[in-house]
Amino acid sequence: MPLTYRKPGTSNELTLIRVAIQSQIMSLFSDVGRKVEKTKQALTDGKQEEYVCVSCEELVDEDYEYCPHCGEETVEPVT
Ligand SMILES: [Zn+2]
Repeated sequence: MPLTYRKPGTSNELTLIRVAIQSQIMSLFSDVGRKVEKTKQALTDGKQEEYVCVSCEELVDEDYEYCPHCGEETVEPVT
């Protein structure tokens, strides 16, 4: 039967496709994992520059000349 000869070939192809998809999924996951690691680092790494307005005590992410929250000229780096 030609069908029985075909079946192993087809399943091999399917296996190849499955492996290819799996490795793609794996690399996708490791990409996400890496991103999560980076985010974790950013969250735990307190060395990221931060600024705070000493007038309203709001945190700002840049060295603004004027506080975007209260407009005071009191933005200073967080040490
Ligand atoms: Zn302010």
